[in-house]
Amino acid sequence: MKQSLTKKIGLGMLLGILFGWQFPNLSIAIAPIGDIFMRLLKMLIVPLVLFSMTTGSINAIKSGKNQAKKLALKTFGYYLLTTFFAVILGLILVTTIQPGNGLNLEGVNLSTPDVVKNGTTIKELLYSFIPTNPIEALSNGKILSIIVFSLLLGFSIGATGEKGKPAADFFESMFEAVLKMTMWVIHLTPYGIFALIGNTIATRGLESLNFVMMYMVVVLLGLLIHSTITLPVILARTKRKIADYAKAMSPAILNAISTGSSSATLPLTMNCVKNAKVTRDTRKFVLPLGATINMDGTALYEAVAVVFIAQAYSMNLDISQIVIIALTATLASIGAAGIPQAGLVTMSLVLTAVGLPLEGVGLIIGVDWFLDRFRTAVNVWGDSIGAAVVDSSLK
Ligand code: ASP
Repeated sequence: MKQSLTKKIGLGMLLGILFGWQFPNLSIAIAPIGDIFMRLLKMLIVPLVLFSMTTGSINAIKSGKNQAKKLALKTFGYYLLTTFFAVILGLILVTTIQPGNGLNLEGVNLSTPDVVKNGTTIKELLYSFIPTNPIEALSNGKILSIIVFSLLLGFSIGATGEKGKPAADFFESMFEAVLKMTMWVIHLTPYGIFALIGNTIATRGLESLNFVMMYMVVVLLGLLIHSTITLPVILARTKRKIADYAKAMSPAILNAISTGSSSATLPLTMNCVKNAKVTRDTRKFVLPLGATINMDGTALYEAVAVVFIAQAYSMNLDISQIVIIALTATLASIGAAGIPQAGLVTMSLVLTAVGLPLEGVGLIIGVDWFLDRFRTAVNVWGDSIGAAVVDSSLK
């Protein structure tokens, strides 16, 4: 069943590419099938994060303060370390290969894309962690705020003892019900992906990708090295077989490529990690958090993009600016929502920190939809490995 789902999704992707290329009108006509699938996945995100994080933290507290502390420390330790590795790798590649040299953009008028003009500041990012009204956060799908509220709610229910038991049972049983719903939606993945990919190929075409080719090569190379060397080396510590784990995760990874959204892939990631036998409580805690704040692919891409823009403007970056890029790219990836092209929005944070013009984003915006698919896949792969690593380190 697991294998055949992967095969079906792969087939859906291939047929989608073929249809989008050969029958663009037909692919555009059936786009609503993809939209409905995306809506179903999005419908699951808020309840999944709320019930999963709350039950995860109730159980963490119940297993003792020390165990809860260990879980939190190991999870955040893994996230920060792997994100930082990704950023460093991106910086090494972009400063060695120098894809932006020779583009000479000085004096060229690019207009600043609106998404970047209205980008995030560090203050806004910090404030977004704390909801002033949790119901408003839930109804507007503010995932960072929902995570913080669910964590605190779970800890307080867990700390309430006997009186908290009915609430704990309620969240546990709601979590099971949402999982059941998730299973139903997952069965639609091959059809949804077929329609989504077909529509993307039919409407976007692949011509825009010739431009800034070397920049794309650097980002893709970085993503490849991070996902096939760095992360597997970390996974190897758990004594799991890389190939088996990757096979178990493949439906989620293919879904990430097709949707460009870690959050919309969360239902599949949870299911795949469950099939790979990662303990329930770990995955309940690590995955929703990871889908929102652990984005290795996004961090790597932000670092590469910003240095590329500097090179294109013939601006020399000194070592202190490179350090600032490393730190702010990490922060910007944490702040990026798990939705398509969110990394482009938070990039304004990195550009501003080193005094680069925001309009530089105009240079890379045309190819961003394409790179987004692959960085999202790496984000999801990083989350799944995180679940296995944290799980085995707690045993
Ligand atoms: N689309 C990415 C994700 O959902 C975020 C980004 O890099 O834009 O993980």
